[in-house]
Parts: sequence; C-alpha cells; structure tokens
Amino acid sequence: MQSTRVSFPDGSLTGEGEVLIVDRDSSVLIVDATPFHPVDHTWPDQPGDSGTISLGGSRLEVSEAVMAAVDDEGALFVGGDIPAKRGAEGWTWLVAHRIAGDLPADVAVGAHAVMDVDADRRSALSRGHTACHLASLALDAAVADLWRKEIGIDPLGSPDFESRANQSSRIHLDGSVDEYRLGKSLRKAGFDSAGFADSFAEREARINEVLAGWVSSGGESRIEVDGPSIVDRRTWRCALPEGEVGFLCGGTHVRSLTEFSSITVSLDLSDPQLLVMTTTAAPA
Ligand SMILES: [Zn+2]
Repeated sequence: MQSTRVSFPDGSLTGEGEVLIVDRDSSVLIVDATPFHPVDHTWPDQPGDSGTISLGGSRLEVSEAVMAAVDDEGALFVGGDIPAKRGAEGWTWLVAHRIAGDLPADVAVGAHAVMDVDADRRSALSRGHTACHLASLALDAAVADLWRKEIGIDPLGSPDFESRANQSSRIHLDGSVDEYRLGKSLRKAGFDSAGFADSFAEREARINEVLAGWVSSGGESRIEVDGPSIVDRRTWRCALPEGEVGFLCGGTHVRSLTEFSSITVSLDLSDPQLLVMTTTAAPA
C-alpha cells in the first residue's frame, strides 16, 4: 500500500478514488487519493475537513478527515491512537475519512468513491490558518525590540518569538487562538517579559496596523509541495510588501489576501506567564 495522494494543497474540493480500507471498528474509510485535509495527530492545529463520500447508491457523511497509519505488520492505527510521529519510517501514512454513524454493510474494498469536501467550512478554515500565520509574523515584529539576546529569526527577519514561546495553536473557522509561554525560560533566552506587560496595549495596536497593511496589499498565498502524498513536505508561501515569506506547514490556506476584509488580533495577559492571542479573520 502507498501513502495517500492528496489534492487539497492546490485547493481541490472534489476527487475520486478506490476504497483501500474499510475499518468498521473505528468507522473509517481510506481511499487511495483524496481532496480531504486531515487533522494532524502530531500537531493538531487545523481541524480536518468534513464533507461527503458517495459509493454506489450510498452517500456517507464524513464528520472529519484524520491521519491513519499502517505498521509493518499491517495493523491500522487511526488519529490520536497512532504511536508514531507523522512521516516516521516503517509506517504507511494515510488519510482516513471518519464516517458519522455506522458504515453500511455493502461498503467494500475496491469500491469507487466520489468525494466532496464542505467548501464553506474549508474556506473558513483556510482563512483561519493564513490569518494565524500572518498574526504570528506581525507579533514577532511587534515584540522585536524586547529581545536582549540574539535568537533565531523568523521568515521576515524578526527575532523568532513564535517558535521560542508558542505552546499551542488552534485554528477554527475564520480565526485562531495561540498560546505563548512567557515564563522563566523565555526570560533566560533574553525576552523582556516585564517590558512586554507594560506596553502590551500599544503592541496589540501595532500588530493590528501591520495586519491591516498586509490585507490591503492583496498578495498571493499558495502551498508548495515536494510530492503528491500526505507525508511529502509542504510549504506555505505568501507575498507581503516586505517580500515573500514561507515556512513548513501542513494545512490549507487562502489563494490571495484579497479573500480577507480584515484580520485583527486581541491579546490577553490575564495570566502574566501566558500570552493568549486570539485572531479573527473577516471574509471579503
Ligand atoms: Zn501552518
């Protein structure tokens, strides 16, 4: 068996394929190729796509696409039960479609599947994911002067607060919530947490100003792939007035920043050890 071929990186919402695995215990269907974006079990930032799969006479509701993996002895693991990191050697990596309710008795391996992703939900998740990345770049820039030591830089050349402090990222329809740890280890790395706490309203305003400028620039956004399968490396690239940015990303994205009417953030520091950044995208 080969890793699942995926077409979501180019924006596809429909596709056809052959059913490879029918697993009634976990109520999942696996097809050789799919347009469905699955939630990643290792870094579950973006929820999986939902939609429908039509097989012969039946039309099944896909509640969410998830990752699945088959080990070298042929055992199938689904979603959070997978005991290995995505892409690990010795596993075949697959996209599984979780079916709402029980699988009908006549669904069988070899059947021809016609797949349709819920387009409105995908668009809203893509806006949420692009907005999340833009907000994190704007945040890095807005706190750049608070670093007292050299650390690595982000794709725009700012000190990389995001990769130092981010502990979780949750993308939802038209937005995201990111949590950043501001504890002792960040201060040791040279970040002026007290200075941040004192100036945090100004910094929030600065992030929103930068985001407004990026949205009005209307640059192109796309996903570059190293190959056709779910485990091939993917890179999100986006044209900003400062230049093109890009970083590794497994999710889905808008095609252009003209798809937004605005992106705004609000910062919450009610726990001084934990910055929570809530990003809201408004569609154009
Ligand atoms: Zn991403």
